[in-house]
Amino acid sequence: MARGQQREQARAKAQKEAAKRAGGVSQLGARAAGLQIKCPKCFIAIANYNLLKQHMEAKHPKETVPPESDFQAKA
Ligand SMILES: [Zn+2]
Repeated sequence: MARGQQREQARAKAQKEAAKRAGGVSQLGARAAGLQIKCPKCFIAIANYNLLKQHMEAKHPKETVPPESDFQAKA
C-alpha cells in the first residue's frame, strides 16, 4: 500500500472540492470534468449551473431556468 500516494490523491480531491465550492473560479476543473454546460437560449458555454442561473436571470429573464438534472443527464 502506497500510503503517501493515497494522501496525495485525497489532497488533490480536497482542492478540487474547495474550488468547486468557491464557485466559478475553477473553470479549468469544470472543463476537465466535462461539466461545462451551454445556455439553452444563446448556447454560450458556461462553467457551472450556478453561473447559468445568473446568466439566464440577467440575459433571458423571461425564460425558465432548466433544472440542474437536465445538464447532468446529458453529461
Ligand atoms: Zn444565454
